[in-house]
Amino acid sequence: MTHEPLKPVIAYLGLGGNLDNPLDLLASARKAIAAVPGIREIAFSSFYASKPMGPTDQPDYINAVMAVETTLPPHGLLRALLMIELSHGRVRTGQRWGPRILDLDILLYGNGNIADESLTIPHTGIADREFVLYPLAEIAQPNLEIPGMGLLCDLVAACPLRGLEVIRHD
Ligand code: ATP
Ligand code: MG
Ligand code: MG
Repeated sequence: MTHEPLKPVIAYLGLGGNLDNPLDLLASARKAIAAVPGIREIAFSSFYASKPMGPTDQPDYINAVMAVETTLPPHGLLRALLMIELSHGRVRTGQRWGPRILDLDILLYGNGNIADESLTIPHTGIADREFVLYPLAEIAQPNLEIPGMGLLCDLVAACPLRGLEVIRHD
């Protein structure tokens, strides 16, 4: 039996990390994501420096958001991202929001809503994470509807910066 390829969907991905050289790691992850069959990069935000969530005895984070067009189903996309995390040396320590080499999250998958044991879309943290909302607002329309949470521009307006800064680099 053959499966019809899925119609391309726009997905937004959150990239983050705070160990080793996060800028290089995020740049490498970006290339690896764009090279996955069934994924095409559409846009990539600036890099941002952000304060850690949760445990504060860890380095600041570097974050970015990437827009892709994909024919992969949501769980296939998640699998591809988890493999890229692993290939960049991510080790899961079990500490929630502890330091990590590379974190790749699916923020949005079209206007889809998913909630099962391995995947929640929209990503649960979107509405109150400045390091997600501000880079997302750079590359998405202000009137983007975040399913169940409202308009992107309204979420940004209600979200403090908490020290978030754009990083200049060449
Ligand atoms: P947070 O989800 O609060 O940002 P985290 O990114 O540090 O935390 P991880 O350890 O990277 O959490 O992921 C744990 C699990 O979360 C993954 O194995 C994955 O199955 C699940 N998960 C659920 N929803 C998503 C999503 N939208 N994107 C990525 N992973 C998700
Ligand atoms: Mg995360
Ligand atoms: Mg994650």
